[in-house]
Amino acid sequence: MSDTRLREEICRYGRSLFERGLTPGSSGNISMRLDDGGWLVTPTNASLGFLDPGRISRLDAGGRLVSGDKPTKEIPLHSALYELRGSARAIVHLHSTHAVALTMLPEIDPRAALPPMTPYYLMRAGETALVPYYRPGDPAVADAIRGLAGKYASVLLANHGPVVAGDSLEAAVFATEELEETAKLYLLLRNLNPRYLSPQQVLDLASTFKLDLPSLDDHEGHDHG
Ligand SMILES: [Zn+2]
Repeated sequence: MSDTRLREEICRYGRSLFERGLTPGSSGNISMRLDDGGWLVTPTNASLGFLDPGRISRLDAGGRLVSGDKPTKEIPLHSALYELRGSARAIVHLHSTHAVALTMLPEIDPRAALPPMTPYYLMRAGETALVPYYRPGDPAVADAIRGLAGKYASVLLANHGPVVAGDSLEAAVFATEELEETAKLYLLLRNLNPRYLSPQQVLDLASTFKLDLPSLDDHEGHDHG
């Protein structure tokens, strides 16, 4: 895909996310990794609803600004996840309400922030990790993401929002939407004793759709040494 097409794609998905209320004001950012190792990333203080393709920040492989506006200060989030997820081509970070709410609940498991509620959550977002709170732009968040060893494509930042990597921008956007909707379901059903997918149903999905779920890796490692 040409540089121009990629820029247009970032603007189109950004507008769609913003217009559906999935990230307010100038919050949230989107990046795409390019064939030369450089990236396109949304500028600092830019609303995802009103991006200008010509002003998107173009960085080289070393993270230096080549053209466009100053990039988002949340670059450390993106670079850490790209570093660990070799196949990732795009990352979406939002301040979406239900996912942010989820991060503040006391019972959340940092290695499985959501239970297996629906097949499409597992198929699009996989499992989700939760990392502690860091001030926006604090480079220490990158170390917290590195601590997950690249097992998770979906990460929640406590009191802040989701960061999701995908093999394409469409995949990253769809995964972020599934994460947000699943967080909403969790909040709707919390304390109502809902029936989640059974371990057998999760295994069936994982084997049928070749899902890379960290909880199953741990299980295999335990069984087979
Ligand atoms: Zn943010």
